[in-house]
Amino acid sequence: MSLIVQKFGGTSVANAERINNVANIVTETYSKGNDVVVVVSAQGDTTDELIAKGNEINPNASKRERDMLVSAGEQISIALLAMAIEKLGFPVVSLLGWQAGFQTSSAHTTARIKRVIPNRIRKELDKKCIVIVAGFQGLSRYDDITTLGRGGSDTSAVAIAASMHADLCQIYTDVEGVYTADPRLVKNAKKLKAISYDEMLELATLGAQVLNNRSVEMAKKYNIELEVLSSMVKAPGTIVKEIGKMEKMLISGVAKDADIARISIVGVPDQPGFAFKIFSKLASKNINVDIILQSIGHNGKKDISFTIPKDRAEDAEKLVNEYAEAIGAKETIISTEVAKISIVGAGMESHAGVATKMFEALYDAQINIQMIATSEIKVSVLIDKKDADRAVTAIHDKFFEQ
Ligand code: ADP
Ligand code: ASP
Ligand code: MG
Repeated sequence: MSLIVQKFGGTSVANAERINNVANIVTETYSKGNDVVVVVSAQGDTTDELIAKGNEINPNASKRERDMLVSAGEQISIALLAMAIEKLGFPVVSLLGWQAGFQTSSAHTTARIKRVIPNRIRKELDKKCIVIVAGFQGLSRYDDITTLGRGGSDTSAVAIAASMHADLCQIYTDVEGVYTADPRLVKNAKKLKAISYDEMLELATLGAQVLNNRSVEMAKKYNIELEVLSSMVKAPGTIVKEIGKMEKMLISGVAKDADIARISIVGVPDQPGFAFKIFSKLASKNINVDIILQSIGHNGKKDISFTIPKDRAEDAEKLVNEYAEAIGAKETIISTEVAKISIVGAGMESHAGVATKMFEALYDAQINIQMIATSEIKVSVLIDKKDADRAVTAIHDKFFEQ
């Protein structure tokens, strides 16, 4: 007998038919003699709709109340799925995050799981119940409901698998696995049989939303193998695990992130300390800076450009404008019409020419590169947002079709 954690995303539980389908998958696993813990997300676009509802009432509402509101989405799904399983005649119980033992930090809307104390889950499994847990939510030390950030249900599932030493953690979604690019964008994207934690972590962080990056981080930390697969099509999915050096692919995928903004400060004095001061101001407001580009000084002045998450653009703009004025910089330019396109592959560490090939693909498509950033296993470029989809296809074709 094994302990299996199965997570189903929003599309997989979007309506009654899909919920019944999930109930069939879960009870089939249970009928084979396994203990089954199921984690579900809110149905379809429920989370977006709840956020919009909140904004309609009060766009400046406290994060505590926002969490109280959006966590309701998952409460609906767990009850509906439990009802569907009851109908099939199986013992089942649904649990909210706090009932399932999710203790988190108190950073509302972006809380981190501190620990899962699965006593209640164990008790229910001992009673031979199928346990359905609300993803995306937990309880802070002040006994307030928290949520884990968008896409957080993946992390809920991995946290249960880790705390209960599960034998398998399956992430069911609306595509058949992890592909070499978003299969909705690139029609000839290829499904990967397996991908390493490190590559998956990069892809997830760089915009491939199929897995939440924190879930991959946690899976790597606790060595939990993940299987990403479709809830609608019965087919082998993608395994995310530790992979030996020999098996590594040159490039495992292309990712797009259009939720970023670029800020340029033009005419910064070309003297020590200015980069330090601006970036420490941004850090003090928890604004993550990604790609940074600084020009060579000219006539005692230089330009500094960098990218940040789009949802922090307003905060950053205010800060940077004040700073630019104080130091007498010429101007600041902010743009949200940009996108970051990245290639990820553990093999590029030991192969020259990978970045060149990416740049060639962009040149062939006549797409201009604004910024470049690299690490051992990734190359990212910043380009005009209107070129983003074309760039993904051009780069994907260059690496996977030639
Ligand atoms: P869920 O609701 O099940 O959590 P998500 O919408 O969060 O599902 O993630 C699945 C989506 O991720 C897919 O529909 C697909 O469009 C997108 N996606 C982006 N990049 C990739 C990729 N490399 N492989 C597979 N899916 C990807
Ligand atoms: N329902 C939450 C969201 O839409 C969590 C999740 O789907 O993983 O972000
Ligand atoms: Mg998701």
